[in-house]
Amino acid sequence: MGRRTASARRSSQFRDDDGFPAALLIGLQAAVPLHILDSWHLSDEERQAAANEHATVVACHGDDLIYGGRQCAPSFNALARGLALLAHQPGGVDFAGQHWCTQPHDGCPNKRTRPLLPGIHDRHQPEEVNGGG
Ligand SMILES: [Zn+2]
Repeated sequence: MGRRTASARRSSQFRDDDGFPAALLIGLQAAVPLHILDSWHLSDEERQAAANEHATVVACHGDDLIYGGRQCAPSFNALARGLALLAHQPGGVDFAGQHWCTQPHDGCPNKRTRPLLPGIHDRHQPEEVNGGG
């Protein structure tokens, strides 16, 4: 019991204000943009079907994602992929204080002026990247 409490206390030092593990947030910052690029070619119907599948995985194994467990990696991938799919929706998606989107919209906290990755442009205003000389 004491050992577990010490472990919980130690792990709480690596969580954000909402209790999400810092490693999860860092991982999402890297993974979600890659999944956005990988899901670019899908139709809206394909994205919706895939998002439903990933939501089921997160719902069933979200505890492993937060506290560790055998399904941690699959649930992380499902969360990252699901957030990427939702980023294609108007207004994008917010999770754990982060925001991902693929189209310009009112109130967007992303003031991105560069492509998601070199040579790969998103649907934000391209004139900010290419214009102005
Ligand atoms: Zn946005």
